[in-house]
Amino acid sequence: VGHTATGTRTRRRRRVLFFSLPYQGHINPMFQLAGLLHARGFAITVFHTHFNAPDASQHPAYDFVPVQDDGMPADSPDTVQVTVEHMFALNRACEAPFRERLAALLEQQQQHAREEDVACLVADAHLLTLMDVARGLGVPTLALRTGSAACFRWFMAFPMLCDKGYLSAQGVQSPVAESQLDMPVMELPPYRVRDLPSAASGATHGLMREVISRAVSAVKTSSGLIINTFDALEADELASLRSDLAVPVFDIGPLHVHSPAASSSLLQQDRGCLDWLDAQGPASVLYVSFGSLASMSASDLAETAWGIANSGRPFLLVLRPGIVRGAPPTQQPPQLPDSFDAETRGRGMVVSWAPQEEVLAHPAVGAFWTHCGWNSTLEGVCAGVPMLCHPCFGDQMGNARYVDHVWRTGLSLDGELERGKVEAAISTMMGSGESETGTELRGRARELSRRAAESVAKAGSSDLNVDKLVNHILSL
Ligand code: UDP
Repeated sequence: VGHTATGTRTRRRRRVLFFSLPYQGHINPMFQLAGLLHARGFAITVFHTHFNAPDASQHPAYDFVPVQDDGMPADSPDTVQVTVEHMFALNRACEAPFRERLAALLEQQQQHAREEDVACLVADAHLLTLMDVARGLGVPTLALRTGSAACFRWFMAFPMLCDKGYLSAQGVQSPVAESQLDMPVMELPPYRVRDLPSAASGATHGLMREVISRAVSAVKTSSGLIINTFDALEADELASLRSDLAVPVFDIGPLHVHSPAASSSLLQQDRGCLDWLDAQGPASVLYVSFGSLASMSASDLAETAWGIANSGRPFLLVLRPGIVRGAPPTQQPPQLPDSFDAETRGRGMVVSWAPQEEVLAHPAVGAFWTHCGWNSTLEGVCAGVPMLCHPCFGDQMGNARYVDHVWRTGLSLDGELERGKVEAAISTMMGSGESETGTELRGRARELSRRAAESVAKAGSSDLNVDKLVNHILSL
């Protein structure tokens, strides 16, 4: 008989198994959750594909089980269509190898009575096939959603929105006028048609329908939903999920507050930029990053660069390898306009990958230009900085809508990127004193960050939900 960190007396230590989607924005929250559960006394086993395999040496306390993924495309996806195909390929490729690996682990556990009992599998909600495998072998599953509650509510509403014709209004079936994209989605405020994930994705309707219905089914057939958000941020959206789902919902975010993502970064983070930030004035720097998957055209990069240069503000710009679509793979780092360096000399730094959470928490950072991936959005919320949103695909448009319309802690750059628009938005967000909008944005951003901190502090909503989650896992 042993004790867990929660004080519960258990026969043996319990083990939680994890299987994440192999993309940075999914791997980070999964490791953060694993860290949280490990600190509460659980043993951790991480199943993973060879594609984007995590660095086991960064997590010596965990067990790692590689799962054969023959047939998965080798390139990282950068559009909804390719991401969706990639996820289907992963489910197909890993089904049999995962069954074999999991069965072996369960067998070993039975033979060695001193091994920890497997409590459950926590898997990304896009891994329905693998969750079915686990349940088939008698292992309960919990679904992890690494996006917002609003996004999952959209998933659940998808068939109804199709029936009401919103998706044909997106031009999935036929081309549409810009004005139609601005129509409100009456059943799902604050979204407009353009904020729904498939609007700009070019993903085929059938594929979207299937991937969304599989994720909903993965959640409904699991023993619970773990979601990386917090009550003060998405109270209505969480209430709506709770009323529509029969399974318990554990909103325990923001997860990165518990354990930083540095240890699960797939790319080497350039820490030199932290020294550079040390030399900058308080709240003076614009931090610009588009996440791990989004890509842009060479002309968008030029508009971005000139918008930043013309703003006259110090900047830290992340240009990861491969961010420019169609550029030769040998062109590393991505090519900035010819006179950009001369124009901005001494005023900025360009890196290929940053320690983003530490950068955002640095007092020199005054604003965040983001593609609005959900992790970046949450990290920006916690840092209390105003955000300039330029979403690219998937749930990013919906996240940007919340930043600019619901929390009102940032501005959206809609439509084509254009240097004049970029410069004006940066001035509004970072201008000292002269812009009332900027002062208000910054004030609301600080207030939201305070509420994020409260949610994870002792007896905050997320902290209490972690306790509930731990007890739920022990009861499975
Ligand atoms: N990130 C980072 N360094 C960078 C840019 C991003 O460590 O230079 C991290 C960021 O902190 C976040 C993740 O990569 O945790 C990106 O996830 P997100 O959901 O924001 O976007 P995605 O990459 O999935 O589009």
